[in-house]
Amino acid sequence: MDQQKHIQWLGMTLPQMETAMEEIGEKPFRARQLADWIFQKGVFEFEQMTNFSKAFRGKLEAVSCVGIPSLHQLLESRQDPVKKALIELEDGEMIESVLMKYNYGNSVCVSSQAGCKMNCSFCATGLGGFRRNLTAGEMLAQVLLMRQADEGERVSHIVLMGMGEPLDNYDEVLTFLKIANASWGLGIGYRHISLSTCGITSQIKRLQTEDLPINLSISLHAPNDQIRQQIMPIAKRYPMDELLIACKEYSEQTKRRITFEYNLIQGINDSQEHAKELAGKLRRMLAFVNLIPLNTVPESRLRRSSQSTIQQFADVLNQNGIESTIRREMGGDIWAACGQLRGQFNR
Ligand code: SAH
Repeated sequence: MDQQKHIQWLGMTLPQMETAMEEIGEKPFRARQLADWIFQKGVFEFEQMTNFSKAFRGKLEAVSCVGIPSLHQLLESRQDPVKKALIELEDGEMIESVLMKYNYGNSVCVSSQAGCKMNCSFCATGLGGFRRNLTAGEMLAQVLLMRQADEGERVSHIVLMGMGEPLDNYDEVLTFLKIANASWGLGIGYRHISLSTCGITSQIKRLQTEDLPINLSISLHAPNDQIRQQIMPIAKRYPMDELLIACKEYSEQTKRRITFEYNLIQGINDSQEHAKELAGKLRRMLAFVNLIPLNTVPESRLRRSSQSTIQQFADVLNQNGIESTIRREMGGDIWAACGQLRGQFNR
């Protein structure tokens, strides 16, 4: 029996669930019923699935599991409508997810890897090194656990901006996106899903061929390769010109505006000259810049720019025809803000 107990439902597509049902001698329509319990009703215990017979529930228990990891700790911000979960995966790896409540709905910031290989100098996740890729099921579980931690209130938006580099875990991320969008799954529109990448150009081109109308965010953080290479090792592999051409093609095909994220770091990338240079690079593109005041990470010497420098940077962008906003910071008191996720306790 134990040997058979390897069916894990979360992370399977509906056809895969149907096949698995048939393999254990059940009718395929059971798959949709099970998906309904997991995604719609948020019930993860077979014994609570009351439209299943006792015998069927017993069989499910014996040969399968839903695949929900355990919520190790839940932290609630005192200053913002933000909650952060520390989730312990089956093999003991720890990851973090964040729930943010906005007036337009609830958004979950999902991690795509335990740790990260990219090693950006300003980011806490990179400092801890890479552990492993997450499965589609582990990404879905983050949304389900956050929803449960918020009394089951609907999650309307997903941002793949937590720990890890989503395009470095391409296949599982793609499966996750499809199940997140599916009506039998989380039922979240692609337009309400954002994927943030440090700019792996080859994978952006691949993503373009999938033709999914998700929002693409690029962590640019610099107006040129020289500065970018100082703070983001990936920039040595993918020159900015090629990255921006791939972005332009992506937005032309998908007709979606691309968001460029820009951490403002004191004395590194925050002068008015830099703003002008950036505006020049993004001209003639369907682009939008999200200016992010740097959150400090204890081990890093990088500091955030002053409020007035940030405002001036935004003004220069706007004068040069590039729209931007300054990101509202949330959850700093529970280390839930951008770049602060690292999946362990000691800071
Ligand atoms: N690997 C992906 C997604 C994770 S990072 C990516 O690079 O986009 C998500 C966002 O948080 C990125 O824009 C990243 O640059 C930003 N971020 C990382 N460290 C930060 C910090 N210390 N302060 C503010 N934002 C940070």
